[in-house]
This record gives sequence, structure tokens and C-alpha cells, in this order.
Amino acid sequence: MSVLSPNTPTAELQRIDAAHHMHPFTHNQGLADKGARVITRANGCWLTDSNGNRMLDGMAGLWCVNVGYGRTELADAAHRQMLELPFYNTFFQTTHIPALALAQRLAELAPGDLNHVFFAGSGSEANDTNLRMVRTYWSEKGQPERQIIISRWNGYHGSTVGSGSLGGMKGMHEQGGMPIPGIHHINQPNWWLEGGDMTPEEFGLARARELEEAIEELGPDKVAAFIAEPIQGAGGVIIPPETYWPEIQRIVDKYGILLIADEVICAFGRTGNWFGSQTMGIRPHIMTIAKGLSSGYQPIGGSIVCDEVAEVIDATEFNHGYTYSGHPVACAVALENLRILDEEGIVTRVREETAPYLKERFETLTDHPMVGEAKIVGMMGSIALTPDKAARAPFASDAGTVGYLCRERCFNNNLVMRHVYDRMIISPPLIISREEIDTLIERAWQSLDETMAEAKAQGLMKAGKRG
Ligand SMILES: *Cc1c(COP(=O)(O)O)cnc(C)c1O
Repeated sequence: MSVLSPNTPTAELQRIDAAHHMHPFTHNQGLADKGARVITRANGCWLTDSNGNRMLDGMAGLWCVNVGYGRTELADAAHRQMLELPFYNTFFQTTHIPALALAQRLAELAPGDLNHVFFAGSGSEANDTNLRMVRTYWSEKGQPERQIIISRWNGYHGSTVGSGSLGGMKGMHEQGGMPIPGIHHINQPNWWLEGGDMTPEEFGLARARELEEAIEELGPDKVAAFIAEPIQGAGGVIIPPETYWPEIQRIVDKYGILLIADEVICAFGRTGNWFGSQTMGIRPHIMTIAKGLSSGYQPIGGSIVCDEVAEVIDATEFNHGYTYSGHPVACAVALENLRILDEEGIVTRVREETAPYLKERFETLTDHPMVGEAKIVGMMGSIALTPDKAARAPFASDAGTVGYLCRERCFNNNLVMRHVYDRMIISPPLIISREEIDTLIERAWQSLDETMAEAKAQGLMKAGKRG
């Protein structure tokens, strides 16, 4: 086997990648024809590829590198922990300091009585935990018929069989026998695309009331929980109308079902607070965490659980867990990451300085002729591309055709901005500076210009029917 390094020719790295590496959520043959971009190093908000291009990472990796790349403290924490205790399990009546210390710190940071943490290796695993935990909770409470979990179309909760079933991605459900039984989906609060002639406020209420209708239809004594992201991420950064969450909270309270906030993206400063639930003013019983918990430097996820649920679960033996639940190295890195976020005032700076500036700049994109709306909360935002602003029209072409063009233009302009169908989304590292924000907006604008020219040339600027 040859020794590969960033000095190996890119074409060779791409050839090997295509021959042996199956990428997630990717049409691998299509990618093989093109060649994957090889990322070799990163610092701050900037990625370097094997051709020496420097790209501004508008996605913080995959919504996770909150403190930015290149933090030696995190590498040192991992190094120290690996030498001291690289692994030990927490199954057999044993514990270790990184796990208990991180659980304690998360209990301090989390609002209300969310005081207990069940660790997992990822967000998907944590949501699998939640699925079993809420059902077990109701069984232990003597209500075993309460098993249904309500979630939302176009929500994202992960890619395992359980979490993928909770999610509402139809393309995922089509493959491999999902969703599993006992999960019911309601519609998402995406006003721009689905709001029809309602005002955003009316639409927010209408979509929230679908939860109440579903509970009534399924039977109030059959519903265990409602799960949702405070702000949908992978679904296209869908920021709900202001009326949405208060109404959801009212309904959850009225029927006494459990509320699971999937905070995998929203937590750890992304929305300008430690948790998205604080930004949206909701009181979940369980929060799913991952991604920004370690700024992506180590794979780790978990569930932060309220006193009431933890008490019931702790009173039985919950037959569930992962070899890497509370992995000491991942926990040590996460603890150090939380220290950096706190002591460097990163969360506060997002809320008070950089997010307001980013909002001001990001919203100027609505002046672009191809942009229907530009919405942002904290450091997560999206723009809707449209061939006809006034009509709030989607494209007549297959959803995602123009979005994909735009992503390609961004990539060529050394900006990583992802597309979800025909929405362009950003979620930069929280340490992004004003100057970098200016660069991001300039490159986005230029990419939009180029996309529009290309869409025109390809005859794609035709309006389709609004949902
Ligand atoms: C990414 C994500 C997950 C899944 O996390 P993995 O670590 O990829 O398993 C779950 N929920 C939300 C909201 C996410 O964004």
C-alpha cells in the first residue's frame, strides 16, 4: 500500500476514493465521474483542499464546528485523556471522570430541571435512545398504550432506522423499510413554500394546530411524545412563524405529552443562546444533543432528560446503551469545547454582536432578483430561490435543480453554502468575524448572479405552482 498524503496527486486520491469509499447521502457513481473534493486541512473558518484552494466554510463542517477549526486545546484534551484513560465503559456499575463531569456541566447549562444525561455516539443514536426512553417512560407509568410519537414531514432526526423514521424525509423512507410503526408525521411550518394565502402568523397557528388534530385523531391516551427541531436544519433552515412554538407548547401542556426538542444543530450557541429551546421559548422534557457539543472534534451525542422522566427511567433497568456511551476521550473534548464557548464568551458574542451583523448583511440578499426570502436566527439562515419573487413561486423544474447549480457556483467561488432543494443554507462557525461575514455575503451575491445567468441560459427561470 502506498503512503498517501496531501502531496499525493489529487486525481490519485480521487481515484482511490471512488474505488473504495462509499459516501453518505451521495450518488456515488455520479461523484466518481466528477471526483470528490479532497479537504486536507482547516483553520478558523477556512478549509484548504488538495489543490491549494482556500474556501470559506459557511456550513461549519456539517453544522458542528462551532469553535472553528484548529483549536489546539481540543487536541490537547484528547491527547491527555487518551494517555490517562482512552476507554472504559459505563455499563458495569463503573463510571469515569470525563463522563460524570460532562453530565454535570450539561445539567448546569441546560434550562429548568433538565438535569440528567444519557450519552450516545451521535445525534441519530441519541434519538433512538429518546424513542425507546419515552415509550419506556409511559409503560413504567402504567400507560403502555401511549406509544405513538408525532414528528414532522421534512424534519431531520438522523439516519438510523429509528431516528430516520422519526424524521420526515420521504427520500429516506423510500429506502430500507421506514418508517417503523408508531410514528405519525404532521406538516412543517414552512410558510414561504406552503403558506398559501395565509399570513405567516395564521399559517404558524394552523400548522401547530395540526398537532392537536393529530392527537385527537390518534387518541390522546395513545400519544407518547412530540419531537421537533426548534429550527429545522437539514430540511432547509426553516424558521417557523412566531406563532408556531407558543401554540405547540400550549398543546403539549394541554395533553400532557412529552416534548423532545432535537437540539443537535440549535444547541451550543448556534441560535445565540446555549439552546434553541431558550431562543424559541419552549420547555422540552428531553433535548437531543450532538454536533456542536464537541464542535465536531469527536463523535458524541446524548439526551438531556428532565427530573420527572429520569426518575421513572432510573427506577427500572433501561436495557439500552452503546459501547461508546460517555466515551472518555469524546467527553473530555466536549468539556473543553464547552469551556471555550463559555470562557471566550462565544455564545454571548454571537447573540450580541456577530449574529445581529450577519442578520443585517444576510437580509440584504432579499434584494437579489432571484431571492424570495432570506431568514436567519443566530448563526443559521437560509434563502429561498425563486424565478418570480412577487408570486412567491417555486421553480417549474424539479425541486433542487437550481439549488444545485447555485451550490456549484458557490463551491467554485470558494464558499461552502449547501442547498436543500431550492433553498440555500448557511451555518458558519460561531467565531466568524465581521470581515469574514462580508466575504461570505459578497461571494453569495456573486454566486447568485452567476446562478441566475446560468438558469436563464438553461431556460430554468420558469415559475411552477405554489403548494
Ligand atoms: C445531524 C442531526 C441529527 C443526526 O446526528 P448524527 O450525529 O448525524 O447521527 C439529528 N438531529 C438533527 C436535528 C441533526 O441535525
